[in-house]
Amino acid sequence: MAEYKGIMVYGEIVEGKLSSITTEILGCGRRLADELKEELSCILVGETLGDAPKKAIAFGADKVYTAEDPLLKEYQTDSYVAVMEKAVKDVSPRVLLLGQTSVGRDLAPRLAFRLGGTLSMDCMELSIDPATKQLQQTRSVYGGNARATFTSEIFPQIATVRQKAMTPLACDESRKGEIAPIKVELDPAKIRTKVLETVKEEVVGIKLEDAQSVVAGGRGIGGPEGFQQLEELAKVLKGAVGASRPPCDNKWVPDTMQVGLTGKIVTPELYIAVGLSGASQHIAGCSGAKNIIAINKDPEANIFKEARFGVVGDWKQVLPAFTEKVKELLAG
Ligand SMILES: Cc1cc2nc3c(=O)[nH]c(=O)nc-3n(C[C@H](O)[C@H](O)[C@H](O)COP(=O)(O)OP(=O)(O)OC[C@H]3O[C@@H](n4cnc5c(N)ncnc54)[C@H](O)[C@@H]3O)c2cc1C
Repeated sequence: MAEYKGIMVYGEIVEGKLSSITTEILGCGRRLADELKEELSCILVGETLGDAPKKAIAFGADKVYTAEDPLLKEYQTDSYVAVMEKAVKDVSPRVLLLGQTSVGRDLAPRLAFRLGGTLSMDCMELSIDPATKQLQQTRSVYGGNARATFTSEIFPQIATVRQKAMTPLACDESRKGEIAPIKVELDPAKIRTKVLETVKEEVVGIKLEDAQSVVAGGRGIGGPEGFQQLEELAKVLKGAVGASRPPCDNKWVPDTMQVGLTGKIVTPELYIAVGLSGASQHIAGCSGAKNIIAINKDPEANIFKEARFGVVGDWKQVLPAFTEKVKELLAG
């Protein structure tokens, strides 16, 4: 039976660069590998990988396995699963970490089945049990109302990790590591689907996930027109506009603006929550914000329990005055 050892991270490359979730899980993987006193490896798959393997070392990996082939130009289930299944069988890591991205969501369950391992999706915390050396995987359950920690005695233990849940290490180009190319043997006949077109999400201004100030609106905004006022404040703060689920479901704003359990995770310095109640599923997406300011007409709204500052009142009256004051302060 294979001896399972070390932590392996599946790295994603977006527009030629390591994705931010990859640097986050490398930071987490480094911590876990140090606790186990074992190796942290990273596997990168693509047509050409450029300097991504070196970057993976700079972000914490001891060893980077590279799989390069024209058939791996973009993510495709059959080819990527085949390459990953072989690589994980050869390396036998005790833990395999992937991002909770569209790729991670597709790849992880298929690998868990093929490798006979276990899987926890969308983990928010990972640690090693010092007694058993097993991975403790914490994720939210019951629609975001509780958290549960899972572990198993079966290897490999596979986990996908929520974006922004982990902190990357500082990039250290002087860090030393090994780059090990993997021989890729793919049968084109076995690749059953092909990517016809890739459509890039259009972002005007700053990306919601990267913004340091987010102005988020909820059902209380009442319609798409109200969001124009949120946009004005976001512009003054050089930030982005987000939303709770109802404005997205009602098509007042695009789905890409949803923050929460089934939306985006944001960790800005400032999160201004306007006309939203602060349901646990929404808070799951913004609890990492440094400061939450709530504007809500209901003094009992849950958002006030999460907020550092709060204004009880109708946002239609509060927001224009708030925006004017911010403009004045920033100008002075
Ligand atoms: C599995 C699951 C996943 C989910 N995922 C998400 C998710 O990712 N993101 C998410 O947001 N939700 C999610 N939800 C939905 C979530 O449970 C809540 O229903 C939702 O967040 C409520 O949105 P809201 O706060 O905008 O609306 P409401 O709860 O209806 O709150 C509206 C608030 O606006 C206030 N208000 C009304 N008028 C004004 C005014 N004029 N001035 C000031 N305040 C006013 C009200 O006092 C109230 O507090 C999910 C639910 C489930 C079951």
